[in-house]
Amino acid sequence: AKRTGKGRYEVFRPEMQEAFEKTVNLATELRRALERDEFVVYYQPICTLADGKLVGLEALVRWRHPTRGMVTPMEFIPAAEDTEMIIPIGHRVLRQACRSAFEWNQQRTPAGLPELTVHVNVSTRQLRGDVAKSVADVLRETGLAASRLVLEITESHQALDLTQVCHQLQRLKDLGVGLAIDDFGTGFSSLLALRQFPIDTIKMDKSFVDDLDEHSDRSDLARAIVQLGRTVRRDVIAEGIESDRQRRALLDCGCRLGQGYLFGKPLDHVATTALVSETRFTAGL
Ligand code: C2E
Ligand code: CA
Ligand code: CA
Ligand code: CA
Repeated sequence: AKRTGKGRYEVFRPEMQEAFEKTVNLATELRRALERDEFVVYYQPICTLADGKLVGLEALVRWRHPTRGMVTPMEFIPAAEDTEMIIPIGHRVLRQACRSAFEWNQQRTPAGLPELTVHVNVSTRQLRGDVAKSVADVLRETGLAASRLVLEITESHQALDLTQVCHQLQRLKDLGVGLAIDDFGTGFSSLLALRQFPIDTIKMDKSFVDDLDEHSDRSDLARAIVQLGRTVRRDVIAEGIESDRQRRALLDCGCRLGQGYLFGKPLDHVATTALVSETRFTAGL
């Protein structure tokens, strides 16, 4: 609430009081949830489109609420950003994801399976303070190689300082971690971001993949994004693939990697452990 500045309170209205209290309550709730270890990480397979081979996992947080059940990130990430709780929550998710990825790769190597890359979502709001140092600490603590971690940069719903974002991303890049731009084609995740940020992967937003099904005359944009990726030498991962028709259309455009319900929904830690040691996992095909 500090952010809004003093001026706002000169015209204090009851609904502001209400909104303010709601934020304070949520901050308290989120802090308690962290203490009680209620945030759990789910993992969604990232696969080769041609043969459904597992190449990576995207970590997606959920809040296992004692009375409300499983709360989706959409319902608490914005509040977590407003209250700064996104910093400790994000750190917890990162550590959990890196620790698990390290263990899973240790199971895979003796079985002759290639190592997986773990993708962790980071909102621009988290790119403050010494974020590169805290990522480096987590990598050291968990043993995961920097090259096996990709940070997916998502735009915070709050305004951001581009210079600051750029500086922080460069420092992360210097660690050797991969950087992906999330929801590419929407919001700030556009051509400007591609030019200004040191990113190596484009996550093509689900809306372009959706176009590949219903209105096949609108598939041009998906095709253009894949071509753009090739031109500027960035990997493209298509998000939200639900049908085999979409998978084939993407392959047709020259897209190599993707994720979506066709390959698998996000799974909890136990289910993911079973999945990653499956030698003949060819999802959805
Ligand atoms: P995102 O990074 O774009 O993640 C993809 C979302 O689409 C996930 O929703 C995933 O479950 C869903 N999805 C995947 N495949 C399909 C599909 O085939 N069809 C449909 N309809 N949906 C699909 P989820 O897990 O609810 O996450 C929502 C958003 O919350 C994420 O969008 C991400 O921006 C944010 N988020 C999740 N975890 C974290 C986190 O640890 N930190 C931060 N900062 N943000 C997070
Ligand atoms: Ca993402
Ligand atoms: Ca996305
Ligand atoms: Ca998103």
